[in-house]
Amino acid sequence: MSVRIYVVRIPGVAAVFAAALLLLGVGVWLGGEKVWRALTPLSGFVSGRTVIIDPGHGGPDPGCLSAAGLCEKEIVLDVARRLEIYFQRAAVYTVLTRREDRDLADEAGEAGGGRKVRDLEGRIALARRSRGDLLLSIHANAFPSPVWSGAQTFYYPGREESRRLAVLVQNVLVERLGPNTRKAKAGEFRLLEKVPMPAVLVEIGFLSNPREAELLGRPEYRERIAEAIFTGVVQYWLCQGQGGEPAVDGLAGVQPPPAAPLPQWRLKQGEALLYFGGPTNLDDFLAPEVRAVPALAQEKSLEKRIQAVVEELLAGPGEGSILSPTLPRRARLRKVRVRGEVVQLDFDRALVESFHGGARSEELAVYSLVNTVTELVPGCRVLITVEGKAGATLAGHMVLDRPLSRNEEVLR
Ligand SMILES: [Zn+2]
Repeated sequence: MSVRIYVVRIPGVAAVFAAALLLLGVGVWLGGEKVWRALTPLSGFVSGRTVIIDPGHGGPDPGCLSAAGLCEKEIVLDVARRLEIYFQRAAVYTVLTRREDRDLADEAGEAGGGRKVRDLEGRIALARRSRGDLLLSIHANAFPSPVWSGAQTFYYPGREESRRLAVLVQNVLVERLGPNTRKAKAGEFRLLEKVPMPAVLVEIGFLSNPREAELLGRPEYRERIAEAIFTGVVQYWLCQGQGGEPAVDGLAGVQPPPAAPLPQWRLKQGEALLYFGGPTNLDDFLAPEVRAVPALAQEKSLEKRIQAVVEELLAGPGEGSILSPTLPRRARLRKVRVRGEVVQLDFDRALVESFHGGARSEELAVYSLVNTVTELVPGCRVLITVEGKAGATLAGHMVLDRPLSRNEEVLR
């Protein structure tokens, strides 16, 4: 099967010229005197590199949608093309994972799974073959609550170079497209895990927020997003060239202070702790709700107790609650099976077919299940299956092919 890899090369002399012009421009543009002084030795850090730009979704997978019908797959492709132009002007080689409205499922080789999972595998294979210096995956977000807004950049947990890149890209996005209080965050997304180069996933905004969806519909706003991402990447390279430490004000020592311990909940008999989405735009995490679940007091079977609690979670936050649902209400839990320390939750297809979220909301949906079940069965791992099979994906960013442990990071 032939695979198209799009590599744009600017011939020799033109490349040097373009790089010189760009560095001049970038120096003025980034503004800082510190950056300006460092310009001469920087040409080697910018031109001649290869960036893989990955517009998410495509073809049969539209990604998330705005109320007005704006489609994630279309706006992220437009941003990717604009981003490519910035890199081309800097004599940086670009590889786009797609240029048309299609997915990469047919390029996944032997990989099994549903179309969305094979699409991810196709992107991973392409990124590995093209040996880029870094990968930028472009997505848009959606959440059941329309109040959530703001671009956000993700890296795979424990990947230090990716985290540094994410912090710098997020910083420029906030600076240029604010108000936005979101910070770069770790996210367990398959593509970021499986590619060897530093890789980030940029959620360019929430299509579920009417104001942001309207902005994302405007070409000039998408241009500003592309410019901001490009500037963040250049800053990352500049930092590498200056010995690896972020040189941008306010970013030195980006390690956050140790987080405060989470509150301990005392539950009465017959009560469960359920995890839902945070109430406001500043609460981009899971928050607990105490719920009376009569079956907990009556049922002896652990499977039935878990079943009852997960059904409460699927029903959504309680009446009058300020929290947001994380899972599609139509999804049904078909069976619970406990084998050793692994709890298998088997759902019907509605879990996948009725889920319309971005990468972060997919992560919150998955861990609302995992963390709720680990409240009931401390220390267990949770395997989420669809019609008996592992390896499903809710929205094409995570692959549910292994039992997951409780995640405390999504609680703050
Ligand atoms: Zn997406």
